[in-house]
Amino acid sequence: MMKSTPGDINHRARKRFGQNFLEDDGIIQRIVRSIGANSSDHLVEIGPGKGAITQWLVESCEKLDVVELDRDLAAWLSIQYEKQSHFTLHQADALKFDFSQLQQGEKPLRILGNLPYNISTPLIFHLLTYHKLVGDMHFMLQKEVVERMSASPGQKAYGRLGIMVQYYCRVDTLFLVPPEAFNPQPKVESAIVRLQPYDQPPYPAKDIKLFQRLVNIAFQQRRKTLRNALKQLAPVEQIDALELDTSRRPENLSLQEFVDLSNILSDLIE
Ligand code: SAH
Repeated sequence: MMKSTPGDINHRARKRFGQNFLEDDGIIQRIVRSIGANSSDHLVEIGPGKGAITQWLVESCEKLDVVELDRDLAAWLSIQYEKQSHFTLHQADALKFDFSQLQQGEKPLRILGNLPYNISTPLIFHLLTYHKLVGDMHFMLQKEVVERMSASPGQKAYGRLGIMVQYYCRVDTLFLVPPEAFNPQPKVESAIVRLQPYDQPPYPAKDIKLFQRLVNIAFQQRRKTLRNALKQLAPVEQIDALELDTSRRPENLSLQEFVDLSNILSDLIE
């Protein structure tokens, strides 16, 4: 594999941008191997920072877009890679970035990043809105966030994030990364997760907005009964008329059960 060695950059990590730079070559190689990029891929990296992962990917794809918020790093990156005509830097906030503008023809976007942990949950929700354009996503996240993404009903970590991610994507936890792999070191353990959006969600909701509202409301009070959540969405009499065990707690309902429930509700509300 070729490596385009980045020049030196004198950059103090900025906490407000969630900057923890990867410095462990073994971990970096493992991430790069997990992504397994090939020469026809269209890659999109969020938060490339000082290019720890970028430098290994830029040579092995057809197109590489990177989205970096920090102006200093963005300026450095654009000089670093200016000779690579297939490299495009977007100095922007990934939370507000329109990822659909990157798509070229039908080619799926392969998104990746060692994400700033302070914005990881809203960023994942933002990226899910582009699920149709995305081939797969590989992220470094705080270990607890990966646990929430892959959690099953009844587990403590199970909730809104897991349900919404699993609605759209197959989720695979690949490996753990200790704080020592970074500089500065985060206080938490990290993990690499792979998300692969389904062509068709296995349990499609008739009304995706309603499904999202149901899941939101259900987990605002995760220890209360389902009946409590449902009555915010439909008249109590109608809910009680359904043959449903509404004494259950949201934390024990599977993705499929949430989808079924939202489909029943959508018939009620129509
Ligand atoms: N990928 C690099 C850097 C990871 S640190 C590495 O592994 O070493 C997280 C990176 O995300 C930093 O470069 C930070 O400036 C950038 N970042 C933080 N908030 C961002 C946002 N809202 N949009 C885009 N990039 C952001």
